[in-house]
Amino acid sequence: MRQPVIVGNWKMHKTIRESIHFVEQLKPLIQSASCDIIVSPPFTSLSAASKATLDTQIKIGAQDLYWENSGAFTGEISPQMALEAGCRYVILGHSERRIIFGETSQSVSKKAAAAIAAGLIPIICLGEKEKERQSGKTHDVIGMQFRQSLASLTPEIVSHIILAYEPVWAIGTGMTATPQIAQEVHSYLRQLTIEMFNRSASDNVRLLYGGSVKPENISSLMVEKDIDGVLVGGASLKVESFAKIINFEIR
Ligand code: PEP
Repeated sequence: MRQPVIVGNWKMHKTIRESIHFVEQLKPLIQSASCDIIVSPPFTSLSAASKATLDTQIKIGAQDLYWENSGAFTGEISPQMALEAGCRYVILGHSERRIIFGETSQSVSKKAAAAIAAGLIPIICLGEKEKERQSGKTHDVIGMQFRQSLASLTPEIVSHIILAYEPVWAIGTGMTATPQIAQEVHSYLRQLTIEMFNRSASDNVRLLYGGSVKPENISSLMVEKDIDGVLVGGASLKVESFAKIINFEIR
């Protein structure tokens, strides 16, 4: 039985003060939630958000990291630094990092291995662009990203990580993939996991959908058998909408 998980990716939003204010407001609204809750603030807020959520079920995730422990890597942070700032998770290979900052699946694989070695759980993002979907290349693109991004992992490790299917055309556009489209790709991801790892890894790995998730569409997504949770951008920035998503009900 896979535990549902809701992740909020704040991207480059919220100062330290705003992050603390947000989690303080969120806490009383999610006390009866039955899913794992992860919030990913910018680096500067990790430590403060983690202290503010110590006594709660909210866990903190970084939005990226570098694979080395230390060194001359200006602007980067190491897995150990994220861990000490209170992170338990790290988002890797988000499409904004891939498209704007040139992140490759090869670097995602190195980052995932380093994150795991430090005791962090990676949330690895994959997703096709609109043109790739329109030209029937979705499975090719997802398959390639999957094989390369998970190249450094073992079946045992894969059982404990999180994958997020985030079609690029659905991120921040208001165009959510239909539950059927998301389920189809998630089912393909389970198949890929059997082929590259084993059935146990495929049964246990948690698969999130991300792309314009809102309170209005969360239930219809969560009803699908291979969707174990969601990665939320825009709607995670407002306490009311994020709390409604966390408190989703399957109707
Ligand atoms: C995201 O950035 O991961 C995301 C899914 O954004 P949004 O929910 O705003 O589409």
